[in-house]
Amino acid sequence: MNTIIFDSLNEVGGQPNLLYPFKQIADIPVFNTISGLDLVKNLKDNILNKVTIQTAHRVDNVKKENDSFIIDEEYEVKTLIIATGTGSFKPKKFPLKTNEEMEKKIHYFIKDPADFKNQTVGVFGGGDSALDWANELASYANVKLIHRRDQFRGLESSVEKLKKAPNVELLTPYLPKEISIKNDQLSIGLKKMGEDQLNYQLFDQIIVAYGFRANNRFVRNWGVELEGPHIKVNSEMETNLDGIFAIGDAINYPGRVPLIGVGFGEAQIAITAIMRKLFPEKTLTIHSTSI
Ligand SMILES: Cc1cc2nc3c(=O)[nH]c(=O)nc-3n(C[C@H](O)[C@H](O)[C@H](O)COP(=O)(O)OP(=O)(O)OC[C@H]3O[C@@H](n4cnc5c(N)ncnc54)[C@H](O)[C@@H]3O)c2cc1C
Repeated sequence: MNTIIFDSLNEVGGQPNLLYPFKQIADIPVFNTISGLDLVKNLKDNILNKVTIQTAHRVDNVKKENDSFIIDEEYEVKTLIIATGTGSFKPKKFPLKTNEEMEKKIHYFIKDPADFKNQTVGVFGGGDSALDWANELASYANVKLIHRRDQFRGLESSVEKLKKAPNVELLTPYLPKEISIKNDQLSIGLKKMGEDQLNYQLFDQIIVAYGFRANNRFVRNWGVELEGPHIKVNSEMETNLDGIFAIGDAINYPGRVPLIGVGFGEAQIAITAIMRKLFPEKTLTIHSTSI
């Protein structure tokens, strides 16, 4: 088949590439552990010269025309697989009024923790991203992790690792209430629940890990049915529209877990169903070793 991949970002790789490039992923079968970056590199190497990759292209519009679909008035395809995760990555913003000078020191992703070497970095959030980034940064910087609750939502092992790191301070339960610039640093006033006085902390830079706004709703305009924020699929990963499939974190069904390995399996199911649909006359070889 001729295949084209679209990604709204400048590079493919989704969450592992963007949110935890340096984390050692331990639940991909075959690899004992593999970093997000290496996983994405291996996947890209696999498809090199076999698939067209169109980055910086957010797919907005899909229209059925005869027995094809037209993507953004430009590309004609026979079938498509939606693998948009939770949608285009729109991070939840830091909830205080900021100016341009402050925004230079506020980040929503980190590409390389070494960029923060010897700095004091605040990480805001309590989920897996916040904990992973705080752990990565701890090898290079002084880290203060600020969360609005005493309990973290992410992995307990990540919290334990942070508690043992000498250059990491956990500040809970605190909410950011004031922000200003002092001597080229961000001064952030943190309010503890039930207390009036603010605790002012200075940071060279901060990382905001408050999560992302899910926005898969745009597929409704194409006629694709959703269930809550997720796309509804049948057991072949087909949506309510004949020829449009969906896989990965974009979908949900009873018992689904948001893991990379699960997405890989769903891709195999969807592709097999697509092959059967497009080439009903052919005997389908399921195993690549028999091709
Ligand atoms: C901090 C963290 C740690 C995790 N750790 C693990 C782990 O250790 N092991 C594990 O198995 N899983 C882990 N996960 C979960 C795993 O990352 C997800 O299950 C997986 O990335 C889902 O893959 P996906 O392809 O469905 O979506 P995503 O990875 O979200 O990729 C979706 C892609 O679609 C693009 N896109 C969205 N909308 C459009 C559009 N309209 N047009 C074009 N492109 C679009 C996005 O830019 C993105 O590149 C972790 C998740 C997080 C947040």
